[in-house]
Amino acid sequence: MIELKDVSLKYDEDTVALNHINFTVKQGEFVFIVGASGAGKSSIIKLLLREKVPTKGTVLVNGYDLGKIKNNKIPEFRRTLGVVFQDFRLIPTLNVFDNVAFALRVTNTSSRYIRTRVPYILDLMELSDKAKRYPHEISGGEQQRVALARALVNDPPLIIADEPTGNVDPALSYEIVQLLQEINKCGTTILMVTHQHELVRQFGGRTLRVDHGQIVFDDFVMGGTHEGE
Ligand code: ADP
Repeated sequence: MIELKDVSLKYDEDTVALNHINFTVKQGEFVFIVGASGAGKSSIIKLLLREKVPTKGTVLVNGYDLGKIKNNKIPEFRRTLGVVFQDFRLIPTLNVFDNVAFALRVTNTSSRYIRTRVPYILDLMELSDKAKRYPHEISGGEQQRVALARALVNDPPLIIADEPTGNVDPALSYEIVQLLQEINKCGTTILMVTHQHELVRQFGGRTLRVDHGQIVFDDFVMGGTHEGE
C-alpha cells in the first residue's frame, strides 16, 4: 500500500528534509505520524501525494512507483487516495452536498449514482441536515467532516490526513480521530499526521516519529490516557 525505501529529499543543497527514510504501511493499518515543526512530516506527505519526487530512493503508493510515474498517470493515481487537510479546502461557492459531489463529478460519475452516494456519505458523517448550507454557514468541526466526506465518497483504499485536527478544538479533534478510526474499521488504510501528542496518547496505535528528517520511532503506543475527559 505504502512503501518508502531509503528515501531522501533535498529542497536544495543545504536543506536535507528527509534523510534515508524507510517504512511500510499495509492495507488496513491506522498510522500516526508525529514530530516537531520542521521535522519532515509535510515532506513525507508531499512525497506520498507526488507533489515532490524523492532525491533518492523509492516511494510506492497504491501500486504506483511515484519516482517513475508519467505525468499523464498522476490524476489516475490521485484518485486512489482521499486527502484531508488542516485548512479543510472546501469550495466556498458550493454547498455541502455539491462540495462532496464535486469529487465524484470530476470523475464523470453518473448523476444517478451521485444522488444516492452523496446522501449516504453525508448521513454517515451526520451531516444530512447541513446538505444545503455553504461552508461559511457551518462550524469548523462540521467543515472538517465535510472534507472527510469528500475524501471518502470515492471509497478510496487509503486516506491521508495532514493535521486534520489542527484547526478544531480538543473535543472536536477527538471526534474526528474517532471518525477516522471507524472508517479504518471498515478496511480503509489511514495515515494521519499530527503534532498533538495527546491525541496519540488517547487513542494509541502505530506511531512513526520523525525528527530531523529521520524516522526515530516506529512502534505501537498504548492508548487510554483520556486526559481532561
Ligand atoms: P514539518 O512538516 O514536520 O513541519 P517539513 O517537512 O515542512 O517539516 O520541513 C522539513 C525541513 O525542510 C525543514 O528544515 C524545512 O525548513 C525544510 N523545508 C520545507 N519546505 C521547504 C521548501 N519549500 N524549501 C526549502 N526548505 C524547505
